Amino acid sequence: MTVQAKKFLGQHFLKDLNIAEKIAQSLTTTTANTKVVEVGPGMGVLTQFLLKMPLDLSVIEIDRESVTWLKEHFPLLEGRIIEGDFLQLDLKAILGENGAIIGNFPYNISSQILFHCLENRESVKEVVGMFQKEVAERVASTHGNKTYGILSVLLQVFYTIEYLFTVSEQVFQPPPKVKSGVIRLIRKDDVQLGVTDQWFKTVVKTGFNQRRKTLRNALKPIMNGKNSTHPFMEKRAEQLSPDDFIELAKHIQNL
Ligand code: SAH
Repeated sequence: MTVQAKKFLGQHFLKDLNIAEKIAQSLTTTTANTKVVEVGPGMGVLTQFLLKMPLDLSVIEIDRESVTWLKEHFPLLEGRIIEGDFLQLDLKAILGENGAIIGNFPYNISSQILFHCLENRESVKEVVGMFQKEVAERVASTHGNKTYGILSVLLQVFYTIEYLFTVSEQVFQPPPKVKSGVIRLIRKDDVQLGVTDQWFKTVVKTGFNQRRKTLRNALKPIMNGKNSTHPFMEKRAEQLSPDDFIELAKHIQNL
């Protein structure tokens, strides 16, 4: 018996044990007290390696059939399986302050998973995960690159991000249509935005909305008719680093 892959749940089961182990080993925070949540364990290919590491592991899986499989095959997971939707999970209650999230994620909700981590960044010290390659690249992309965008800025303000390695379609059952990429996010200490998350997001989103225009033009909708002589206004959104965006958001707020 195996779990039948369900497309609507983004199920692509990893078959290559070396890659599964490599993903598990990419976690840097590993002590017996480190609270870790694995998202979407499926049939436990990654879980089996995580269980061998000194971690305080829980897994959350939305698919009942997978949960049944896990209970049968992994007695060590007793009391550590949450059946439910990661996007609804109270991360603070589970992780405390310095937890980690890991997974070969369901690609249909990649951005939502990242935003859920970001909103709970006080609890999420580290994220290691596999995404579709294009998303992994976007998240890790630095300013000046074509793939640098909203997700890159919002995440990189709070996390240091590394693109670790690429994974071929062939090592999954069923194979996805695209290649995958594994990335690691490590929370930066003491980041002070100096503005609300909401305002910061608005500035970044509006700036990238018309990414070919200078920020002077792109940001018009949120300038309330005010004028700025800041040199960033002559640049385009993709030329600004995450820290530049913090400066810009504060500057506009104080005009
Ligand atoms: N980690 C496994 C499965 C990856 S496929 C492997 O590498 O083989 C993605 C998994 O995420 C599936 O098991 C799917 O059921 C689960 N999943 C999908 N949406 C989810 C959600 N919102 N919350 C938790 N798990 C979810």
